[in-house]
Amino acid sequence: MKPTLLAFMLVTLSLGAFAYYDLAPPSFSYKSGQAVFVDFQNAIYNLRYNYQSKSATAESTITFKVIEPGYPIFDLVPEPTDVTLDGSAVEVALISDPEAQTKYRVLGQPLAAGTYQLKLKHTIKENVVFNAQGVASGFWLGDLSDRRYLEAYIPSNMEFDHYPKTFNVQVTGISTIDHIVKANGNVSRLSNNAFEVSYPAHFTSSSVFFHLFPTKAITRNVSFYYTSIDGRKLPVDIYAVVETDQFLQQTKTILAELEADYGPFPHDQVLIYGTSLARGGMEYSGATATGLLSLGHELFHSYNARGVMPASGNAGWMDEGLSTWRGDAYRHLETLPFENAKISGHSKWRRSTDRDSYVKGSAFFSILAHKLNMRGLFLKDFLKEYFKRNMFSSVTTEMFEKELSESTGIDFSEEFNRYIYGRYTPSTRVAPTHPEDPEHPHYSSKELLNMTMPVLN
Ligand SMILES: [Zn+2]
Repeated sequence: MKPTLLAFMLVTLSLGAFAYYDLAPPSFSYKSGQAVFVDFQNAIYNLRYNYQSKSATAESTITFKVIEPGYPIFDLVPEPTDVTLDGSAVEVALISDPEAQTKYRVLGQPLAAGTYQLKLKHTIKENVVFNAQGVASGFWLGDLSDRRYLEAYIPSNMEFDHYPKTFNVQVTGISTIDHIVKANGNVSRLSNNAFEVSYPAHFTSSSVFFHLFPTKAITRNVSFYYTSIDGRKLPVDIYAVVETDQFLQQTKTILAELEADYGPFPHDQVLIYGTSLARGGMEYSGATATGLLSLGHELFHSYNARGVMPASGNAGWMDEGLSTWRGDAYRHLETLPFENAKISGHSKWRRSTDRDSYVKGSAFFSILAHKLNMRGLFLKDFLKEYFKRNMFSSVTTEMFEKELSESTGIDFSEEFNRYIYGRYTPSTRVAPTHPEDPEHPHYSSKELLNMTMPVLN
């Protein structure tokens, strides 16, 4: 790591405690007061995979700050049990936001401003496999559906918040079989079936990659050091259920391209789970689980989406739009093939990315690129600086729009209103055209489960 980057990160971290709370969704009426978003300080998750009882349980300890007094909101899709707040039992309810966009967990006790400790237990059932080979568990995330980030597996805050996370992972009742953890944090192997994984403080609920499986389940694994343009020896780890040769070659080519366009790869490592030779994948911070044909799309997400991070579902369109725009060879368009669009500007409580973001987001960047080009400016040059300024920070569409207009001196509010915020009355109403994108197809529960216990093709 370069000293300048380290200094930058220390400043970012010291600001981090409160900096992102402003980006939380609004609090709302609950009981006789308000349900309020809180600021997670850190989270420790003890994950136990018991081979004998074929059960995966989590005991979580979360230290959080209440900024605005009220009933604290967090999220966990599975049902929590044994919930305590500073050592005393507390009720937890499942509630909807006022516009019925999503659901949250809320503590049944209003709190004054201050720091608190929440403990809770639950069972992890999703994407956990126990079979003759051993135990596998994958925290596969998704940006296109509600409640598909870390909260699908373990208690988490909403995407706006950044906090350090530690996983203490133990596989019990099967000492004869070794397991391995692939993660985009620091993995310490404590014994053949015990691991500590620590994730950086800038990670959000959409950053974390976690995959536990029997060591013998994967034989295709290559790792090497990629020399970044800033001189770092970047560790690259590729493991796959398909042959790794093309992943290896493509990774080198794509990293060279991305670094030439947007500067040094922002993360400390590159971790790739090759799931097929076809299209379709998911992005994480410095990591991806992907088919070969989506590798470039997903690695670019380590700059957008999982480097610069969306504060909410209303910011996610930029990520899919940018990665698709790269896939569309950074084309320029003079006019758009649609009259208007709304891929941001949805409810403030919305957590998922609009599925129209790929085609319409990419087209929008194409027209921006054209308009900038007419003035001798280049969108990619702006993006390089924008990524650098906002790396590991949360952003909103409004922040992007403001920086773009300040940096270029061009007011794009008309374009944003018409194609992004949906503030334009069309002469004919056009239905969304691309509910599904090949880069991020909707995986069935069965397909996700199949990814969890790797089986060589
Ligand atoms: Zn994508």
